[in-house]
Amino acid sequence: MLSQAVAVGTGGGRRAGAGTVLIVEDEHSIGALIRSYLSRDGYGVVWVRSGEEALIELVRHPVRIVVLDIGLPGMDGFEVCRQIRARSSVPIVMVTARDEEPDRVAGLEVGADDYVPKPFSPRELVARVKAILRRSEPAIAEPIMSLGDIVLDLQGREVAVGGEPVELTTKEFDLLVCLMENPGIVLSRDTLLDRAWGTTYPGGTRTVDVHVGQLRKKLGRPALIRTVRGAGYKAVKS
Ligand code: CA
Repeated sequence: MLSQAVAVGTGGGRRAGAGTVLIVEDEHSIGALIRSYLSRDGYGVVWVRSGEEALIELVRHPVRIVVLDIGLPGMDGFEVCRQIRARSSVPIVMVTARDEEPDRVAGLEVGADDYVPKPFSPRELVARVKAILRRSEPAIAEPIMSLGDIVLDLQGREVAVGGEPVELTTKEFDLLVCLMENPGIVLSRDTLLDRAWGTTYPGGTRTVDVHVGQLRKKLGRPALIRTVRGAGYKAVKS
């Protein structure tokens, strides 16, 4: 029997465009915790306890992201993920108590965008949800960005310099998006780390320097990303 989905709106406190999060979690304490953190941050939340309900609710609400438990009654999280992917490209974050690598790989193979092992800090989960939403936002608003002779296709995740395609890694691409979205504005290493990596990365801000170095080399436009001493980096027009 299907239990009733619980929809939570946060009324006037809700930020415009924060979107609806679909939580699929059968454990009451965990579901309630995720829901309270997300709704406090302005997200509308629809919480269901099974995959079968998730597939029903997915089409009934403007869902921007799915937080999906793997161990569910009935259809498991992997199968739910597969079925969602068959009909939608909505971002999916998988949450599981089984933190072994094979599960992680399986989760990503069935089309999940990110993975959070239990026990997790709700703050970290919210940070990942936000990071994924941020990455998916510009794709809707403005699929093509350009700066000088660099053209970036957000949906196709392709970059061309002077009409020639350039191969970037996922993080190099995400970093370039952050910089190109804010031309002329200095972004600190912490900001770039947060936006491109989405969570506190164990490698620290040095990672940003390494990736900026790679970007300069691959794009062949070393002047595009300027180092601002003591502050961070900014994208400049030429
Ligand atoms: Ca569970």
